[in-house]
Amino acid sequence: MSPEVNTLWIKSLARQYGFDYCGIAKAQELTQDAKRLDAWLQKGFQGDMTYMENHFEMRVDPRKLVPGAKSVITFLKNYFPSNIEIQKKENPQDAVPNIAKYAWGEDYHEVIRNQMHSFLEEMRQKIGKIEGRGFVDSAPVLERSWAQLSGAGWIGKNGNLIRPQAGSFFFIANLIVDIELVYDSPLPQDYCGTCTKCIDACPTQAILPDKTIQGNHCISYYTIELKKMEGLPENASLQNWAFGCDICQDVCPWNRFSKAHQETHFKPLEGLLQLSKNDWMQMEETTFKERFKKSPILRTKLKGMKRNIQWLMDRRL
Ligand code: SF4
Ligand code: SF4
Repeated sequence: MSPEVNTLWIKSLARQYGFDYCGIAKAQELTQDAKRLDAWLQKGFQGDMTYMENHFEMRVDPRKLVPGAKSVITFLKNYFPSNIEIQKKENPQDAVPNIAKYAWGEDYHEVIRNQMHSFLEEMRQKIGKIEGRGFVDSAPVLERSWAQLSGAGWIGKNGNLIRPQAGSFFFIANLIVDIELVYDSPLPQDYCGTCTKCIDACPTQAILPDKTIQGNHCISYYTIELKKMEGLPENASLQNWAFGCDICQDVCPWNRFSKAHQETHFKPLEGLLQLSKNDWMQMEETTFKERFKKSPILRTKLKGMKRNIQWLMDRRL
């Protein structure tokens, strides 16, 4: 089949899989991104996330990751919760610590990785022999750059991929394949304009005006990536966040277009949105492991959650 026919079939299959967007870019070296990533690393914004320094060549060129790669397919998956779920979260206010929306349901890595796997298998059955690999925020792939190149949206000042009339609460997945397809065009411009709401709202001043995110000053970094138990900075304001942070997305005007997702795997884990700080502090290891075995929160471990919540309680947040 021709690249045109294959492309139409792939995009139709993506709709059947429940993806909210499917776009395709030519696999090539990302020269501008390579310069930006290098400067970002030189400034030390990765902090303790030293894995960001690894595999630089692969990160900026998918052909080093999948030999013979010709196309990078980008998928978006909405994870914005329903209004009812948001109200549940917001009612008890400070007694309940904030958890980033992406972590309310099952671990998206697992959910989307499984979908990528069967998607690639279906492509092989329909099109023939294909070398390819799927990635979901778990390998050296600059997923937001690929999403932008494939026409999904633009990268906002808050560093998120923003989709016109849809917002930024999307997981991004990439499938790198060695077949030629028809390539989408990036949007002609970004639509942040003169807005600075995310910069103004960030409690740790992690967002610089030139779209650089100082990763090592972000609440997501402090609450998830920083493993040192004594590592939380004395003077940083985590507001009421115990796992991740949504502030720069919540204030973004484009997220007024967000609609509730339909993915059952992303429904909030039973009782999660009612767990108070005291509930967390009294939780036993066995309960945590059982309750959160499918959750992204497992990553920070119970001792990490307790460290974060103790930090908030000490400051009466
Ligand atoms: S996630 Fe929170 S701390 Fe990080 S850049 Fe956005 S507003 Fe700032
Ligand atoms: S809040 Fe404003 S500046 Fe920040 S990403 Fe959204 S539109 Fe862009």
